[in-house]
Amino acid sequence: MSHDIAVIGNGCAALSLAAKAEQLPDYHLTLIKPNGAPKSKDHVWGFWSDETLEDAVKLAKGTWHQWAIITPKKRTIMSSTSMPYNAIKRSDWTAHCQSLAQSSGVRIIDQEDWQMEDNSTVFDTRPPVVPDECILQHFHGLEIKTKTPVFEADTAILMDFRVDQSKGMHFIYLLPYSTTEALVESTIFSTELADEQFYLSTIDNYLAKYYDVEEYDITHRENGVIPLGKLAPHDVNIPGLGANGGATRPASGYAFLFIQRQISSAIKRVNAGKELTFSNPHKRLDLWMDSVLLTVLRHWPQHGPNLFSSMARTLTGDQFVKFLSGDAGWWIRLKVIFSMPKIPFLKALTKRAFTRKKVSTAVVA
Ligand SMILES: Cc1cc2nc3c(=O)[nH]c(=O)nc-3n(C[C@H](O)[C@H](O)[C@H](O)COP(=O)(O)OP(=O)(O)OC[C@H]3O[C@@H](n4cnc5c(N)ncnc54)[C@H](O)[C@@H]3O)c2cc1C
Repeated sequence: MSHDIAVIGNGCAALSLAAKAEQLPDYHLTLIKPNGAPKSKDHVWGFWSDETLEDAVKLAKGTWHQWAIITPKKRTIMSSTSMPYNAIKRSDWTAHCQSLAQSSGVRIIDQEDWQMEDNSTVFDTRPPVVPDECILQHFHGLEIKTKTPVFEADTAILMDFRVDQSKGMHFIYLLPYSTTEALVESTIFSTELADEQFYLSTIDNYLAKYYDVEEYDITHRENGVIPLGKLAPHDVNIPGLGANGGATRPASGYAFLFIQRQISSAIKRVNAGKELTFSNPHKRLDLWMDSVLLTVLRHWPQHGPNLFSSMARTLTGDQFVKFLSGDAGWWIRLKVIFSMPKIPFLKALTKRAFTRKKVSTAVVA
């Protein structure tokens, strides 16, 4: 029997699913371009190589087997032979997915033209609801070209904390595409956005101070805000997929890998004779560990640089990737726990327990 499936949205999750439509021969898929959606802006998705991401690795704009986490006191270099870090352009991935979707007969229509069939199932990829006081990962980035070679092209800088920490945990993310080209992003974790000029002058000062670069050409600009933590779905009556289905990893904002895994698991379940459904791709324990980490970063962001640097020094490159990709076992988790500064984590656990107690007392009252 054939099933009609409508997916609201035409972003990463909706198109990544549409690209796999030929693996769902019993389903007719339609993507609905939602009313009121902002114009899509290009940016890169960073991700570690994984078996679900072979197509994305082939289309990647850059691949790095080495990456660094830098604080004013320490520069930690990590590496992996089998699980490098990659960056893919959103436009390259969506074009790839669109062409596969088209050849499988997936329809992509405007919401005005959508007439829901009585027996169709709907999934929603519109963004989840962001609660007040939500902790946000917000950033502005520039792709630049310098006149002289200055970047170490074989090392991606995941976090360089040698920038102003007054507005929350703040770091530079630098992906060198060559010795003269890089994406340089100023990224902050906090509840308040900063003025655009703050991120841009951070980038300028950083390049001048650490690379001796005063002049550069800007080839592309990108910015974004990723809400972190537990988020309510866009519409409680429609099951979610992608960020709206809990795919964003709360402590890192990474979602690209988890969206692909969410889709692959759903296809596996269909092949095993089950209905098409999408589940949260994260393990409960990872979500809990992330929530404690976010409590620390929200209340004591000054510990952020040391916390990530310490994790990088404790884990091997492969272990670090496994932890961030949700593939850590007990040994890696214990190493992470023991690498963390104890006082802020104990304070975070106490604060969470106290907040929960206050909430349950309020409910009883
Ligand atoms: C700039 C940026 C950089 C990111 N970088 C990374 C990264 O490096 N690595 C990583 O793993 N993750 C990254 N993420 C997080 C995550 O991968 C992306 O947010 C990803 O696009 C989520 O896919 P999605 O399909 O759930 O949402 P989207 O791709 O955002 O699609 C959402 C759909 O909802 C529609 N929509 C949006 N707003 C509205 C609205 N108000 N009303 C109606 N419809 C709406 C859109 O048009 C689209 O159709 C990044 C996110 C952003 C914003």
